[in-house]
Amino acid sequence: MTVLDSFRLDGKVAVVTGGNRGLGRAFAAALREAGARVAIAARDPDTSRTVAGELDALSVVTDVTDREDVESMLGTVTTELGPVDVLVNNAGACIHRPALEVTPEEWHQVLDVNLNGLWYCSQVVGAQMIRRRTGVIVNIGSISALIVNRPQMQPAYNASKAAVHSLTRSLAAEWAPFGVRVNALAPGYVKTDIAPVDEPQFRRHWIEDAPMQRYALPDEIAASVVYLASDASHFMTGSVLVIDGGYTLF
Ligand code: NDP
Repeated sequence: MTVLDSFRLDGKVAVVTGGNRGLGRAFAAALREAGARVAIAARDPDTSRTVAGELDALSVVTDVTDREDVESMLGTVTTELGPVDVLVNNAGACIHRPALEVTPEEWHQVLDVNLNGLWYCSQVVGAQMIRRRTGVIVNIGSISALIVNRPQMQPAYNASKAAVHSLTRSLAAEWAPFGVRVNALAPGYVKTDIAPVDEPQFRRHWIEDAPMQRYALPDEIAASVVYLASDASHFMTGSVLVIDGGYTLF
């Protein structure tokens, strides 16, 4: 196999949670381009259907915080496309709020999507992968697991992403003997709905503090998901790949 061939995903089935916009959409498009059959698992049925049409993907309306929904998503994908080879746990939410002002609902909302949802998807889809003795999981973590973002405070998000990195290592160790690889990708600031990178109040710390002095666009992160999902990263498991324009260097 040539080096470039090792990045191909022909015949593989990939699920991208939150694949209807932002980074998830770019990941779904890149996996599709690499040859995978892709299912988009997000909540908004209209956006998901439109994007699935544009990418020649399958839309499966899913709330990752609902375990039964996740089980039903796996059933639909398996019936329509086949068993899942690649799971990209991308769905995420963030609330900017100082710690003492975070309500119990806000805390649970962020943890529910970023950690519990990722856990349900990993456990449900991982069980199928383990039965088949093959599979790759790519968890979307964040530099927020490694640093404390500023000027905005976002304690629930930071804690959830640190847990994602740790869970990545736990599952990688436990499932390696079953042929299942688990890695995480930790982006820096990327222009999507979750990160208002153009707002002036964030420029000083989000952009000027970064060695590359800019934010990324989703497409710049997507090729790395293909790398982690494919045989190109065959010997890699339990790693966190940081792509942040050097942000965490300082
Ligand atoms: P967006 O806000 O653009 O996208 C979030 C996605 O998550 C949407 O597709 C949304 O779909 C989906 N989602 C949210 N809640 C649920 C749910 N309960 N069930 C299913 N899907 C859900 O943000 P990004 O694209 O930037 O975020 C993607 C990932 O990247 C997240 O995990 C985020 O934490 C991470 N990240 C982003 C960075 C950035 O700077 N942009 C930096 C580091 C990490 P819908 O609402 O339609 O259900």
